Amino acid sequence: MGLGDPILNLMVRISSENISWMVQYCLETSPNEACGLLLGVGESVKFVRGARSVAPSPYQFTMEPLDILAIDKEAEDLEVEIVGLFHSHTTSEAYPSETDVDACPDDRWVHFLVSLKSKPYRVRAFKIADRKITEIEISCDLEGVSIDDLSWTIQL
Ligand SMILES: [Zn+2]
Repeated sequence: MGLGDPILNLMVRISSENISWMVQYCLETSPNEACGLLLGVGESVKFVRGARSVAPSPYQFTMEPLDILAIDKEAEDLEVEIVGLFHSHTTSEAYPSETDVDACPDDRWVHFLVSLKSKPYRVRAFKIADRKITEIEISCDLEGVSIDDLSWTIQL
């Protein structure tokens, strides 16, 4: 990966408060997969918003278009952009599935994956460009969150 790579920003900034909220939201939506959008600027996530799934399922998600519209409107009001999405895997690892790669809406987006498979819950971030999955580093204040290589774990 060259330093001048135009597509991949290999680090994303997010607060531990936002990570905690995301994991909590995923727990509340469990056993179905949770999903939502990340609002921010560049590689910095400022706000996390949950969205409903059109057809709630433990194995996949499809974001409710009305929720996407509402979040997009809110982003405009907050003068930020949609910079990515998150979703949960309730029984598998925090790694994008074939379905996630197929459904990737935007090569520039960051994907946060929350695995609720076992405690401590794991949070990882990826870029998916041209069907290629690249893990990216999560830069975060350390409160309540611990780092193990590139994977973040959280104890709730
Ligand atoms: Zn998935």
